[in-house]
Amino acid sequence: MHLSETRAVLHRHPALEGFASHVNDFLDTHLPGPVAEQTAQPPWLELRKQAAHAGLTGFDLKRGEGGPGHGHARARGRVLTASVPPALGRVAQGLAMFLAGRRDCDAREIFSTAHGAMALRYGTPAVRDAVRTRVVERGELAGVASSEPHSGSDLRGLRTVAVDHGDHLLLSGTKGLISRVQEATGFVVFCKIVEPAQAAVPDTGGTWLREVPLSALWLPADSAGVVTDTTTPLGLQGWSMGHLHFDRVRIGKQFLLGAPGDGRRIFDNHFSGWRVMMALVCLGAATAAIEETMNRARHRTVGRTSLATIPSVVARLGTAAAETQAATAWCFSLLERCDQDGGQMDVAACSAAKALATDAAYRAVDVALQLHGSEGYTRCTPNEKRLRDIRGLRIADGPNDTLYSVLAHSLLTGTRPTAPLVAQRRA
Ligand SMILES: Cc1cc2nc3c(=O)[nH]c(=O)nc-3n(C[C@H](O)[C@H](O)[C@H](O)COP(=O)(O)OP(=O)(O)OC[C@H]3O[C@@H](n4cnc5c(N)ncnc54)[C@H](O)[C@@H]3O)c2cc1C
Repeated sequence: MHLSETRAVLHRHPALEGFASHVNDFLDTHLPGPVAEQTAQPPWLELRKQAAHAGLTGFDLKRGEGGPGHGHARARGRVLTASVPPALGRVAQGLAMFLAGRRDCDAREIFSTAHGAMALRYGTPAVRDAVRTRVVERGELAGVASSEPHSGSDLRGLRTVAVDHGDHLLLSGTKGLISRVQEATGFVVFCKIVEPAQAAVPDTGGTWLREVPLSALWLPADSAGVVTDTTTPLGLQGWSMGHLHFDRVRIGKQFLLGAPGDGRRIFDNHFSGWRVMMALVCLGAATAAIEETMNRARHRTVGRTSLATIPSVVARLGTAAAETQAATAWCFSLLERCDQDGGQMDVAACSAAKALATDAAYRAVDVALQLHGSEGYTRCTPNEKRLRDIRGLRIADGPNDTLYSVLAHSLLTGTRPTAPLVAQRRA
């Protein structure tokens, strides 16, 4: 089943073939095989910088979003952006994520603007210029700080406040656990903007704060008053994870993304697409795991029997392959629809697709690990890392339980757009 679903995507969009080759060439050069925990860990941030040099960090932006749009833009003699047709930015990003995931889930941060897209899409010109220079051209990394220790999946419960002092805000609160606390050059912070008089009223339970709409701002990581700590996660250890503490961080209002109160809209628009990207990272990992296991099953004998001829083995591999393929097709269908609809994502379907894909990928890698026997259970082979990494992505960017509920809720209440769950592809 070697990449058959991505082959189908390229068959529908031949204009992306050059881009896919560019990504694969980059990976073949810098990350030639799957990563196992016991082998030397790739220099992840350095790889992102190399990707920026190869034009693979800003291809997902449109003109007007701080990106040059399609075509090769050159500055100081080097390619700034890989060639992606303007109406295929999301599909291209999905392809890059899938191909990255085939090598390792931690490779998810190498390509595209990632969370920097929020600053580039909704920021003031000054923010966009700064983020474009850092995240797209230099290959630095943008983080996102939404979750708080007492409230991750409940966005209304966030208690980080930015007190409005006219020309500036004073940001206070704690975020975490969040990824990239040490590597990120800046964070998109979700918070509540309040008046000084409101901030003076004690609200330890966050009761009235629940009614304050969410806002978003871009916070440079080196701002005075930002303190970080780190912890050790089960997987996804290529990037740091920890808390961000804000102690009356002074930040100019030009750092706001959108208008005050736009945070939820920005969150939903961005994370709908991002969830599909994380789904495709996991599906890439699962596809690689299934291919490796098919290969092993062909060559491994148990007694006089080839593993590949044992019906229960074949059935499990077939189930894993079918689930992985189906989820991959759904994800690309959502991205195609988004590109056709000018960037509009179906929040409910994207949420459920991420949940379904990461669950399916986890099952597939678990089967792959099992069929590698004791070797699969060691850190010398990639499946134990894949399993731990995908486990994290079943919680990150929204726990899967809540994401399935988002789809069910919108179907039950009839708030979904009339578009079908899987869009009909236009010829
Ligand atoms: C690897 C990883 C990376 C992360 N990176 C970031 C990051 O960069 N930035 C950031 O802001 N956050 C990040 N997070 C945090 C993540 O977004 C939150 O963990 C997630 O939203 C869940 O919030 P919580 O941990 O507070 O769990 P809770 O909200 O306490 O939920 C705990 C569990 O309860 C269940 N549950 C909760 N609500 C419901 C519901 N409505 N219906 C059914 N079940 C429910 C789910 O099983 C859920 O996992 C990361 C998390 C992980 C694991």
